[in-house]
Formats: sequence, structure tokens, C-alpha cells
Amino acid sequence: MSGRSGVRPGGGPGALIFRQLFDALSSTYTYLLVDAPSRQAVLIDPVWDQFVRDAALLRELGAQLVYTLETHVHADHVTAAWLFQQKLGSRIGISAKAGAAGADRLLDQGDTITFGGESLQVRATPGHTGGCLTYVTADHTMAFTGDALLVRGAGRTDFQQGDARTLYRSVYSQIFTLPDRCLLYPGHDYAGRTATSVGEERAHNPRLGGARSEDDFAGFMANLGLPHPKQMELAVPANLQCGRPAAGAASQVLPAEIAWGPVVRTYAGVPTIEPEWVAQHLAEVTILDVREPEEFDGELGHIVGARLIPLGQLRGRLSELPAGGEADADADADDRPVVIVCRSGGRSAAAAAILEKAGVTRVANISGGMVQWHSLSLPLA
Ligand code: FE
Repeated sequence: MSGRSGVRPGGGPGALIFRQLFDALSSTYTYLLVDAPSRQAVLIDPVWDQFVRDAALLRELGAQLVYTLETHVHADHVTAAWLFQQKLGSRIGISAKAGAAGADRLLDQGDTITFGGESLQVRATPGHTGGCLTYVTADHTMAFTGDALLVRGAGRTDFQQGDARTLYRSVYSQIFTLPDRCLLYPGHDYAGRTATSVGEERAHNPRLGGARSEDDFAGFMANLGLPHPKQMELAVPANLQCGRPAAGAASQVLPAEIAWGPVVRTYAGVPTIEPEWVAQHLAEVTILDVREPEEFDGELGHIVGARLIPLGQLRGRLSELPAGGEADADADADDRPVVIVCRSGGRSAAAAAILEKAGVTRVANISGGMVQWHSLSLPLA
């Protein structure tokens, strides 16, 4: 297995579902591991700003998040650990040496994280920070190294109790002792590289591999001259609370609670609502049907009060629709949320994206379209 996602067969009694997720703003990797038989899951290094995306993936995979695991106290993004704990009831795991408040489990060398039939070994790999951990699958085929070891690199050692000599010893004693074929997944990459292996890094890591000695590494790391991360003043204090926002923390915007209806954003990014709810709240929403006229009057029929604007005409006819919650001086203006429907839910998803791009905030796609509406025997015009 390599790259961003896959299923590792034969890794135990079942199979491990694995996804590598990326936050482009901070170049952070988040890793989802799901024990397929039990659906129990862990997220390694979740990012605050990606909570909605990662929660949608868990939901669509039918996975139950049991732990969020931090590789360390990050300086470049805020963890979503607290947010997942609050919203999904997951437990927060972080190094006992990280000095963070609010964790459910303080981890150290030799601990085991169990999720269903799968488990991760905890290895202490300090040096980038004083509380860095590497998580290793029980079969030693995959390790999540955080910023201790990066693809052809290593995390900086100039703040947060960093120490180059400690990091060198951590990598050699805890990571390079794994099998050569063991895949290594870093906490970040800034050049599009997704994974590496122990054998590769031993041979080709320019800071730590080949014949590099501890003195070579310490000399290299003392002369990097890097600026501090832009988010450091915000991220470190928040991460020392496992991502629990301080009062008035403007940088941590909570995911918007949608007040008008049970709208769920899918992993595909589509705001979606269930047809049963729509059928019970027809008077509170504007139904936009984006099929062709012959379909609108065809065998599937249409929903009472639906406005017909075929998808191909939508961009040119946006002014016919409500502003989607914007205050409007026009007393006749319809400010009801827009609920979109097509035959099966595909064109309406495209329509939802068009409306959101146009600034309509209260919009949702009816899951499954008119086909699903029919199968549920919901009322027609
Ligand atoms: Fe880091």
C-alpha cells in the first residue's frame, strides 16, 4: 500500500481502512485508520479547520471515532481533538510529556492504543518537541512519525524543548529499528510527497540517513535559520488545551450550526437534507427543481410548489431565487432557504454549488432526488 489511501489486507483478523488527508493551509497530514470489522476508528493529528470534512468521511464510512491522537503539540495549526471529543465523544490521546491539559489519555513509550481488532504502539520520539510520539501499527507495516521524521527531512529543533541530538537518537532507536519496508507517514510535507519507508530514509535522508553522525545532524540543524511559524502564537496555546478554545479565541471558528433544518455536508462538500424532513416543512422552504421541463411534468412528477429552473439556465436566472437569508428591503422578498431537487441528486448537487458560490448561504440538496422521494411515497403536486 502506498499513497493517500487504501486497505491493508491481512493486517490482522479483518482489514484496516486507511486514508491520508491533507490540510493545504498548513501542509498538515491527518490520518484516518478504521478497523473494518468493528468500524472503530482513530484520527492522527486532526486539523481544526478540517473538522467538517473529516466528520463527513467518518459518517460515510460508518466509522465510530474512538480516539484522536496527537503526534505532538503543533505550532502551525490548531488540533481538532477537543472539537471531535465534544461532537463525537472521542477520547484525546497525547504524550504525557507534552504538558497539555484536557487529554483523556496521557501516553508514553510502550503504550498501546486499541481500536476494534487493530492497535497502534506508542513510541516516544522526542527532539522536535519534548513530547513527540510515533504511532506504529502492530504488524510494523506503517508508522506515523509526526514531525520527528519527514520525507527526506526532519522537524526543526529550535523551539518547544527541541533538541537535535535527542531527535537523532529518537530516529535511530525508535524509527530506523523498524523493518526497511515499513511505510512512514509524516506530519507534513511541503513538496507533494506523501509517504516513504524506513529503508528509503536510512539511505537517502539528507539530514539523518547515509553515514550522517549525531554531530553532523546537530551541526545541520543548528544552522537552518528558519522563521517561526505564522500561526505559532495562536496554535501553541490552543494546542496546550488540546484545541479547546480560550474565551474569545477569534481564530477558532466553530462549525456553523445550521438553524433552519438538519443539513449535513457530505465528504463531497454538498449540503444535503433528507426528503422526509422536506416533505414535512414544505411551507418553510423554496423548492428549486433543476430538471428539464419534460421531466418536471413526466412520470416522476414534481413536488408541490416547486419552481422549475433547468440546471443549464441556473447561472443566468439566479435573480429569480431568494437571497438565502440575506436581509432584504423588499417586503415581498422570499427569504426561505432553497432546497434543490433533480431526478437522483446529481444535478441538484451541482446546482447547490452554483448557489453557494453566488452567496446563497441557506441551501441544501435533497438526498436521492425525485427517485428517493417516490420510493418514500412522499406527496406530489
Ligand atoms: Fe511540529
